[in-house]
Amino acid sequence: MSILPDHVLNTILGEVLGRPQSYLDLGRLCDQVGGRIAGTDAGRQAEEWGLAALRRYGLTGIWEESLDLDVWERGDLSLAVPGAGGWQLIAVAHANGPLAVDLEAAVVDVGHGRATDFASRAADLTGAIALCDETVPPGERNPHRSERLAAAVAHGAGALLILSSASGGLARTGVCHPRLAPIASLGIAREDGLRLRRLLAGGSTPRLKLNMRNRQSKGRGRNILAEIPGRDPDAGWVLAGAHLDSWDLAQGATDNGLGVAIVLEMARALALLPPESRPRAGLRFALWTAEETGLLGSTAYVAGHEAELPRHRAVMNFDMTGDPYGYWLPGQDGPSGMLTRLAEQLAPLGMGASVDLKPGLHSDHQPFMLAGVPIVSLLGRLSSDGARYYHSLGDTFEKVDLPALCRAAAVGAATLWALADEIEPSFAHLSAAAVDAMVDRAGLREALAAL
Ligand SMILES: [Zn+2]
Repeated sequence: MSILPDHVLNTILGEVLGRPQSYLDLGRLCDQVGGRIAGTDAGRQAEEWGLAALRRYGLTGIWEESLDLDVWERGDLSLAVPGAGGWQLIAVAHANGPLAVDLEAAVVDVGHGRATDFASRAADLTGAIALCDETVPPGERNPHRSERLAAAVAHGAGALLILSSASGGLARTGVCHPRLAPIASLGIAREDGLRLRRLLAGGSTPRLKLNMRNRQSKGRGRNILAEIPGRDPDAGWVLAGAHLDSWDLAQGATDNGLGVAIVLEMARALALLPPESRPRAGLRFALWTAEETGLLGSTAYVAGHEAELPRHRAVMNFDMTGDPYGYWLPGQDGPSGMLTRLAEQLAPLGMGASVDLKPGLHSDHQPFMLAGVPIVSLLGRLSSDGARYYHSLGDTFEKVDLPALCRAAAVGAATLWALADEIEPSFAHLSAAAVDAMVDRAGLREALAAL
């Protein structure tokens, strides 16, 4: 038995696979606005771009919710091994790094940068510059860069360098601290990090000279929201969101223009359904501000909509979403019968029976998940280019894969419609105690404390 009625499926497939529009609009965002930290001029231009796209796509119930932000922007940075045999490293500051740092210190290798790695070098870390990977051995939980920074601070280090897992000079940025960090934290090129490690392994004690300036100012960011009413005003909503802000080093194409284009394409197709073909519950769409700088936009929405949060049946988050092949249902016991049958119906688009129930953090689903709202997101295969250039200068438009974007939007729109049309929602909200238990079971307590 198919979940989606033919006329709904026909509209979604015809529009999203047959005449997609958001991919071209994403190209304009990437090339004409580019990197867009929330609260900056580029951030405002991106918000205008999002509003204009929603209007052009036929959405009528559009509104915005703004929030005050501390806006961090990078200034000059120099990281070098001084003197004979020295060289200038490729490095980028992690956001919310200190506004001024002038430091010269020895490098200490802390391997994978897990808590145990820092502890094993505790005697050498005071005042030193700690160097670590951004990855851990397969199967282990990878600490967020904010956790690595917290460990470096706890051991009295003067600065932290995280070496990129991608070769080719691809130093990565990202937020490292909820407010201005007490010490500098930088992403460095893999080649530079490996050279430092070889020198250390060979018995030399390389010293690094770091000079860094950054700026902080006050700004405002806006969550852009739109709603298509359902057939039953008492049935609540399902929400699909993606963060519109990005890092400044490139164009925010895969992270997360891709997710934004998917959500906009879903909204465009679903807005074309005649009123009698709309689902029971309403459909909400959100372009979040300030995800990269600490999930600030989605967190503000959850706080500001606390009273109606129970009426959110489910939230779908699209962040670097690749070619879809299954569902991510963090903290749930398993897929519902409806989702299983829907995945069967969407098999021609690549959907299969894969389901991942493991909770994770660090995107806009997080504040909803912690408030007990069911999360239904897509598992997707991101192209190797998309993953490689994460948070680096290579995150540009040509890395976005059009067929994968269209399939994700088609599967996303079908899933959103199906979740909204259920008489009894597939998933119940979790109580605060159940959320606590989920966080503990998944070992996420430490990660939550760091940001
Ligand atoms: Zn992202």
